[in-house]
Amino acid sequence: MNKTKNKYHPPSRIMGSLAIILLNSLLLFHSVYSSHAISQPSDHGKQNREIVVISKDSTKHFKDSMSPVGYDGSISATQPFPEWLADFTYLKEWPGIDPPYVPLSFIDMNQIPNSVPIHEMGACPGDRTGCSFDCHKCVAQDDIYTCPKLSQSFDDGPSPVTTRLLDNLQHPTTFFTLGINVVKYPEIYKQIQAKGHLIGSHTWGHKFLPSLTNEQIIAEIEWSIWAMNATGNHIPKWFRPPYGGIDNRVRHILRLFGLQAVLWDYDTYDWQLLNNQRTEQQIFDEARSWLASSGGQKRGMILEHDAHDRTIDVALELSNNIIGHDQLTAAQCVNGVEYIKTFGVDNEEYAAAAAVNVNENFIYVS
Ligand SMILES: [Zn+2]
Repeated sequence: MNKTKNKYHPPSRIMGSLAIILLNSLLLFHSVYSSHAISQPSDHGKQNREIVVISKDSTKHFKDSMSPVGYDGSISATQPFPEWLADFTYLKEWPGIDPPYVPLSFIDMNQIPNSVPIHEMGACPGDRTGCSFDCHKCVAQDDIYTCPKLSQSFDDGPSPVTTRLLDNLQHPTTFFTLGINVVKYPEIYKQIQAKGHLIGSHTWGHKFLPSLTNEQIIAEIEWSIWAMNATGNHIPKWFRPPYGGIDNRVRHILRLFGLQAVLWDYDTYDWQLLNNQRTEQQIFDEARSWLASSGGQKRGMILEHDAHDRTIDVALELSNNIIGHDQLTAAQCVNGVEYIKTFGVDNEEYAAAAAVNVNENFIYVS
């Protein structure tokens, strides 16, 4: 990292934003973990189920989904804060649950659509032109929401239980990680990587993006990318929005980073195991029905969580005894690239430069 410090300098235009960054960082130190981010899943689920409308035949497989776990606020980051990021952000450590917005030279805030109404989770606007997935199950052309083979995917990690999944899973799969967990469990992240699985971003801190300002959305995305870059030496291509919260404003920002959304058409609701709203048997029965649906084509993208022992047990039963090992990663589902860029450990300077210019040379798959 030392060579990076001497050779890499942030773009001069970024320097003008120093005051904003310093202000944000000061605010950061005074921030507290918000109840919004750590609300109990039962609250989220109840709120969403009451309001989401599913009406069209084409959306019959979609269901609303809440996820169980965010992060453990009592665990500190162990991934070192890289010097290139310190040079760029003027911070010294990874942020907490509310990451500061760091302006990026390739983002023109004036181009971000202002016609999409900001909405809280479950408080859906009547206007559907924003193409909300969480409200109306609307998908854009470049959203991935299914797969030619019925395939599992896992959100909210890495977590301590992820290792048991890694030890027993016999096929490549996709993990959508939270930046705040990546820097808490960097060794588990590297195990995911070493096993050949695909890793995508699930934001920094699991907020419901359509309720946030543009700056807050950018912060959630950029910090997740930096966490993955610092830990895995790569820049993600694939992104899963927490709670399925995505609309055309969020998509516009994602595209600036070269990211594409990976949604789902089958939901295990595995987090409901944790508050006894659901049983393992229910999940297994539904998975068998998914295999039989659509004339037995065995296609689809399944949402799960590597977050708790019981969700890991379900994942392994699904993989080993119900769905089988003939599965695809999200990238394989669309014959897409795995990452926008990957770097060797001897090329950290380039990685650092790319980390703040991540929209270079990205490829869209649709
Ligand atoms: Zn999640």
